[in-house]
Amino acid sequence: MADDYYQILEVPRTASAEDIKKSFRKQARKHHPDVNPGNKAAEERFKQLNSAFEVLSDPQKRKLYDEFGEDAAKLGFDEKKAEAYRAYRSGGRGGGRSGGGIPFSSAGGGGADFDLGDLFGDIFGRSGSGDFDINDVLRRQAGPRSPGRGEDITARVSLSLAEAITGAERTLAVQRPGRCQRCNGKGEAGNTGPCPTCKGSGRLRRSAGMPFSGACPTCNGTGRAAEPCSECGGDGVIEENTRLTVKVPPGVQTGSRVRLSGQGAAGTRGGPPGDLYLETEVAEHPLVRREGDDLYLDLPVTVSEAVLGAEVKVPTFQGEVTVKVPPSSQSGRKMRLKGRGAPSLKGGAPGDLYLTLQVKVPDDATPEVKAAAEALARAYPRDVRQELKL
Ligand SMILES: [Zn+2]
Ligand SMILES: [Zn+2]
Repeated sequence: MADDYYQILEVPRTASAEDIKKSFRKQARKHHPDVNPGNKAAEERFKQLNSAFEVLSDPQKRKLYDEFGEDAAKLGFDEKKAEAYRAYRSGGRGGGRSGGGIPFSSAGGGGADFDLGDLFGDIFGRSGSGDFDINDVLRRQAGPRSPGRGEDITARVSLSLAEAITGAERTLAVQRPGRCQRCNGKGEAGNTGPCPTCKGSGRLRRSAGMPFSGACPTCNGTGRAAEPCSECGGDGVIEENTRLTVKVPPGVQTGSRVRLSGQGAAGTRGGPPGDLYLETEVAEHPLVRREGDDLYLDLPVTVSEAVLGAEVKVPTFQGEVTVKVPPSSQSGRKMRLKGRGAPSLKGGAPGDLYLTLQVKVPDDATPEVKAAAEALARAYPRDVRQELKL
């Protein structure tokens, strides 16, 4: 429809209030219908001037116009609706939609029935007869009197590595909005009264702040609406302190987020509950190092086990396993136990457990140990440092 209001008033966007007023007066005098009888172009221009001035002379309206352009009029220059629209537009809470905009209709026709007497009155209610309904926006945002999804809640859980790998159960003290028992979360008392939106008329009339008309969306035109629950005030939720027993699935790491569906805050007015997220923190283990789903463990063996080979018992988080140490195993030899690492949180194959052999020399050199070592020295006189040349 109209051009930019600043262009109409022939002022820069940075113009002061005084400049705007001056420019408006000058041009209004020039294009006033009394001075231009029968001149349709002048009449149209005069209307535009007044529209522009009404907005730009009002700091609040000017601010919203700067932000939303001509759509500001459809928001009734109402900061609350602007806020709702902003949130909606940014795909915020409740909407679940991202980007895009409200399907604003292009604003009304040429103003055939325009009444000059309206010029300083309620001109904004005239525009927009299309499919934009601010109540849709408000409803989508779980505004008053519409069901809304409950908030998501995050709880931190600290675990040992063993618990992280095998799974754990925790009882958490949770403070969350819970379902109101009195109204069963509906937010409504059993009786009805006059609809608070339309004051009982069942209809909403188009006005400056409401660019639509028709049946009241709150009461669907009946004029009666349930009275709000006296316990929760109508939201259907009450802050509650509760204890929740939760299961932490096997395989979590520090920073894992586990979603427990529907365990978050209760929805308002019977809306669906939010989710509870467990954010896990896993303590370091003194012996086992973890990399992703793989685990690393040093496995001590005796000199004779390393020389002769042996079957040794190795503890894992899934229970003890027997591992074959091959004969003539050097210290540092690596062995892989497939699937004995951490389970995959994402449902894939589990990690592996890597063992690193560590030959332990007897730290108690008894005469028998000494004699055995001397016998070994005689039996194995090779120079083990022969290759050690720098
Ligand atoms: Zn109503
Ligand atoms: Zn209630």
